Amino acid sequence: MQLDTYSLRVAFGVMSVALLVLFYFVTYRGTRSAYSGWWCAALAAFQSGSFAYLLDGTDQRWWANPLGNGLLVVGAASVWAGARSFRATRIHRWGFTLAPLATTLAAALDSPGTNTWAGGPVFLGSMTIMIALASRELWKLDTGTHRAMSLAAGGLALYYAARLVAYIAVGPDARAFLTWFGSAVTTLVTMVLLVFVSFTITALSNEQSQNDLRGRATRDGLTGVLNRNTFLEMAADRLRSMKRTGSSGSLILADLDHFKQVNDTYGHAAGDAAIQAFAEACRNTVRSTDLVGRYGGEEFVLLLPGAEGSIAEAVAAQVSLRLRAAEQAYPFPLPTVSYGIASVDGSTTDLGDVISAADVALYRAKDGGRNRAVHASGVAEGRMQATESLLAR
Ligand code: GH3
Ligand code: MG
Ligand code: MG
Repeated sequence: MQLDTYSLRVAFGVMSVALLVLFYFVTYRGTRSAYSGWWCAALAAFQSGSFAYLLDGTDQRWWANPLGNGLLVVGAASVWAGARSFRATRIHRWGFTLAPLATTLAAALDSPGTNTWAGGPVFLGSMTIMIALASRELWKLDTGTHRAMSLAAGGLALYYAARLVAYIAVGPDARAFLTWFGSAVTTLVTMVLLVFVSFTITALSNEQSQNDLRGRATRDGLTGVLNRNTFLEMAADRLRSMKRTGSSGSLILADLDHFKQVNDTYGHAAGDAAIQAFAEACRNTVRSTDLVGRYGGEEFVLLLPGAEGSIAEAVAAQVSLRLRAAEQAYPFPLPTVSYGIASVDGSTTDLGDVISAADVALYRAKDGGRNRAVHASGVAEGRMQATESLLAR
């Protein structure tokens, strides 16, 4: 049985129009990610290429077939560019245009008015190379979804390579070529792949926007540490489980010293940079089980489960040391920091009490001359025995 190429091409054209419209409005407009933009371009190129092929067999084929070949390779090059855009690497202008131009030219110079397969080997070779490059790029991304797309692209590249070999070995009119590698089979294979890839990219785009939203809802925009609400929720949760297991820990409240002066002297942008530098110093110091949050303005809060008071003091000192070490990268002096530390023991239940205790200790640190950590002992009883430790500058 021989599939009818013309009908298949019409079906392919209609299906790809529907796919392009859906993909553009549902996926691309929703995310505007670079890779879904490239996939739109690829769909548009595959579709116009297949419409150009509908003129095959008419007296217009002298221009329609070379154009169709060129457009299909443009589509494959867009797939490659899209695969690269996942890692934010760009494709060189010549890397994109060379193969389509060579393909079109080869077909145009190979009597396209009479030869349906004008420039066939260059077309098949170009498709193989572009799709193989896309597959290689996707493989580097190392996630299940990207690997699945890489395998699909790799399969298609192998198919085109096999077409090229069969074309050279037996020619495009041989029965074996028509049955396995002819235009009808290729159209069918491409149709399935377009649906597969469109669906996969839509799933990826949705996953990415969900992650973006989740990140924006839980993280502070300037520093990337937890925002106040999320910190409070997560810390209260952590406190409950610490009470259950009877384990202890510490909470640190940190406030940058004379921060208004940074803003007033060097500008608000410098102030923002100092806040980011402090958050970075915190992130680089704490363990993965600790929580870091921006409590407000230039105030931060850290929950260190399992850390006794002396360890919490060492952590505070370490953060300040890191800030000092980072200072040379800035054109202005970074502020010093004061810390109030409160202990959390197995009997503590209320996060508000712990934060209040740390706040009183912080106030004492400010009062005592700043650039130091003060520990508020006896949280539960409300007794404040301050143990001050001057931080190394
Ligand atoms: P102290 O040592 O007593 O803490 O002095 P301070 O100058 O740091 O005093 P205070 O904590 O009252 O000042 C906080 C300032 O931080 C006030 C506000 O303008 C500024 N600020 C709050 N949020 C931001 C921010 O996101 N970016 C910048 N650049 N400044 C901020
Ligand atoms: Mg301050
Ligand atoms: Mg403050």
